[in-house]
Amino acid sequence: MSRIDFTTATLPARKRIALIAHDHCKEHLLSWAERQRSRLERHELIATGTTGMLLNQRLGLPVECTVSGPLGGDQQIGARIAERRIDLLVFFWDPFEPQPHDPDVKALLRVAAVWNIPLAANESSADYLLSSPLLDQPHALRIPDYGSYLQGRQSAAD
Ligand code: PGA
Repeated sequence: MSRIDFTTATLPARKRIALIAHDHCKEHLLSWAERQRSRLERHELIATGTTGMLLNQRLGLPVECTVSGPLGGDQQIGARIAERRIDLLVFFWDPFEPQPHDPDVKALLRVAAVWNIPLAANESSADYLLSSPLLDQPHALRIPDYGSYLQGRQSAAD
């Protein structure tokens, strides 16, 4: 693996927030989201199928839904992160139960780390993220420099 160079990208003031909760964590996410409704409503919400349907019912806010997580929804969210179409991830994954789609969960967490996406895996870190002054303003973050990465790959192939 060649060395990765980094560059800077700017996240928009209106964030695209992805929300996911495993089954035993869904009620936690829903009650957290209800408490944070006034902050969430200023942003664009995207969620895996069941989480999104429940959020829409509970909050009455528009939520764009991917397919359900076990059917590939986590991968769809991951793909959007790689395309830089998600700015923040709230993912209440279940630390007590193995999931049929554990490889997808791991892949999603990895790609969020690669692209330096702010990520909350539980309620208290989600509160910290949503109360950050950065939430409602554009701000710069470090991301992999893909142009330079490709150049490195080309030199490796020469
Ligand atoms: P779901 O998927 O929102 O469709 O339940 C979440 C997950 O298990 O990844």
